[in-house]
Amino acid sequence: MINITVLGSTGSIGVNTLDVINRHPDKYRAYALTANTNVSALAKQCIQYKPHYAVMVDEDAAQALQMSIKDEAPEVNILSGKDALCDVASHAEVDQVMAAIVGAAGLLPTLAAAKAAKRVLLANKESLVMSGRLFMETVSDNGAELLPIDSEHNAIFQSMPINFQDGLSNVGVSQIMLTASGGPFRTTPIEQLCSMTPDQACKHPNWEMGRKISVDSATMMNKGLEIIEACWLFNTSTDNIQVVIHPQSVIHSLVKYIDGSVMAQLGNPDMRTPIAYGMSWPERIDSGVEPLDLFEIASLNFESPDEQRFPCLRLVKEVMQQGGTSSAILNAANEIAVSEFLKETIRYTDIAMVIEQVLEQVSSHDADDLNIILADDELARQCASDIVRNISL
Ligand code: NAD
Ligand code: MG
Repeated sequence: MINITVLGSTGSIGVNTLDVINRHPDKYRAYALTANTNVSALAKQCIQYKPHYAVMVDEDAAQALQMSIKDEAPEVNILSGKDALCDVASHAEVDQVMAAIVGAAGLLPTLAAAKAAKRVLLANKESLVMSGRLFMETVSDNGAELLPIDSEHNAIFQSMPINFQDGLSNVGVSQIMLTASGGPFRTTPIEQLCSMTPDQACKHPNWEMGRKISVDSATMMNKGLEIIEACWLFNTSTDNIQVVIHPQSVIHSLVKYIDGSVMAQLGNPDMRTPIAYGMSWPERIDSGVEPLDLFEIASLNFESPDEQRFPCLRLVKEVMQQGGTSSAILNAANEIAVSEFLKETIRYTDIAMVIEQVLEQVSSHDADDLNIILADDELARQCASDIVRNISL
């Protein structure tokens, strides 16, 4: 039996992971489930999956969870607090950890899983954006396994030669092509972008996701974070990565080889495919995803992204040139800006503006120490909040 801790089990990736686990009760077991504050969702999951542990970050929420499952699932051990997330990610009985907390809050528990040599199923791209070098070193120093769950990176992983860690040029790879849907505002007149609402931004054409990543998809910051993620995962630089807008989201990414071959992974846009692949690699298991019907899709289109419409792509390129903690600063500023946009205190177009100003005001440092990364993350959050206060609607 393979024991899986699902960090962020009540979110979009968490729920899809439990769906895959549920299809293979003879092989996988939900060992620990965690959530931030959503008591009713975690209570339902505890009653259905009977995990060994359930963690609510919030202490009051943990007490409420205890009350609500005491009759139907008394065997579940309930813990609370951030340290408990790290504990259930590194417990000796755990084989795999699905890192599906959103944002910087996912960093420490995901690092704990890597330190404890688990198979890390990485959905939380923010971990790599914040601490890429440190994270990759933690994985290799401790003999952990790192499998990308982000659909693009999972597609690239599936299309790469097995020995890609030897360096892409040594294994005949010339370029990674990262596909992007272009989000809900791909064709919106640019002058109308400033009046777009959170609900419009979260209405993704092809994927159903949490609200933060949905806004990131609208601004294409999500693709920017994925460029950084790909550089670390596949040991390459931004020069070797091309972003391709592909509105149907059927090709999940491509790898170009020096002999003219291009390998790609296709499938319906459903996160259960990359999740099942990460859980079962190097084998494959049923994920519940409908088979792809090419006749129904009929055509696949491609465009190059417009940096005027998507200024976050430009900011990411600048950050990658700068290196150090600048990507952690960008990530933190983005998290504040997106959460303020979702609260309707700033406009959609203010998101990129806030991030740009934070990058100008907060200096970056070498990113080889976790405390330095976390300190710059905090400074960037404060700076972003100050900027927001000045412009808020
Ligand atoms: P979501 O908002 O649906 O769920 C987030 C989960 O994290 C919830 O279980 C929530 O309880 C928990 N959480 C939130 N804040 C927390 C905190 N401060 N401490 C502890 N737990 C906290 O998010 P999602 O869409 O499932 O995305 C999760 C991660 O996966 C993100 O990093 C996202 O970029 C990545 N990802 C998501 C998708 C997708 O299809 N949803 C695709 C690729 C990558
Ligand atoms: Mg993705």
